[in-house]
Amino acid sequence: MKVYDVPNDIQPLVSTFLVEANKRGHRLVIDDLIITYKYNIVTAKIHAAGLCRKRYGHTPIIFIDTTSPNWRASDISKEQLVFHELCHCILNRGHNPDTLMNGNFASIMKPSGETIYGAVLNYFKREYYLDELFNPAADKPAWAQVTESYLKPYQVLDTLFYDDFENFHQDDTIVDDQQLRIDSVKYKDWSLGANSVVRRWVVDGHLELESYERGTYTIPFNVNIPDSVDFEIKTNMVIPGGNSGMMSFYWGGSSLKDMYAIIVNQDGYTSIGQVSHGVVVAKSDVNIYNDVYNEIVIRKSGAFYYIFINGRLIDNLKFEGLKGNLFGFGVSGLASEVWIDDVLVTIIQSAQYL
Ligand SMILES: [Zn+2]
Repeated sequence: MKVYDVPNDIQPLVSTFLVEANKRGHRLVIDDLIITYKYNIVTAKIHAAGLCRKRYGHTPIIFIDTTSPNWRASDISKEQLVFHELCHCILNRGHNPDTLMNGNFASIMKPSGETIYGAVLNYFKREYYLDELFNPAADKPAWAQVTESYLKPYQVLDTLFYDDFENFHQDDTIVDDQQLRIDSVKYKDWSLGANSVVRRWVVDGHLELESYERGTYTIPFNVNIPDSVDFEIKTNMVIPGGNSGMMSFYWGGSSLKDMYAIIVNQDGYTSIGQVSHGVVVAKSDVNIYNDVYNEIVIRKSGAFYYIFINGRLIDNLKFEGLKGNLFGFGVSGLASEVWIDDVLVTIIQSAQYL
């Protein structure tokens, strides 16, 4: 006996699944499916945001955990979660751990739970992922074959911002060494200081951002990047050994909400996006050092961003207009610490135009 029982707030995603299948020539009928909420889904000893259970002679059941980050992060991460489970339960597909030439996952059917396309910077990838969902033999996308390389020569036309954090003398300021409760110290344009939850300081030629409590803390700064130029942002960051947590770099925002962000944890799990629209995983296996600085490069060339960490391509994204001149460094997660060395923002001209 067929059963169809899908909650109202999930039904639109099932409808979209049918529409996207239809666009690709698959006339699917879904008339035997139960979707239900379940918290603390544990499968193969790991927590999952969703699960498909199929047994012969029974209606397939999808469990969705609406308390999971996948459900809560954004509409687009919800879509990927539900499509993944529908693909198991309706299209009978298993997992596909493959990656594309640029290192992105090859399929929504990857075995892990990261969100792989988002509303910001990489929405253009959705089309391919849906093609692949309904046809595992779909052509690999052109955007995955990146020709831009870390070492590609370019000319620096102008330096917009540079700081190496040298020449800072604590003696020049009024410092209460015992308490470190100085919230208004200015070093160049950096707002430094310390209180009981966070410390922002320049010492020994680098900038330090240390949190004493769980949360997200930032050190903002301003860089004006003119419209329609190519540019490169280069900085060095490290979560010093023994600390866990995430280090972030923000750029091009008018407020904390609309800044673009690259977030890297101590294991190399890297996400990129916009603070208010959720982030999307770029790579989960980047080599991140905890004893030397990691170089983060955000290069805007033509219509695209190319992101490199320690000289390795992490992701290529579509350039979207900057919202403002707000930049920043961040630390988040449990109490942690991030050190920052040089930060350099330049206007560049790619070799192809020279
Ligand atoms: Zn799965």
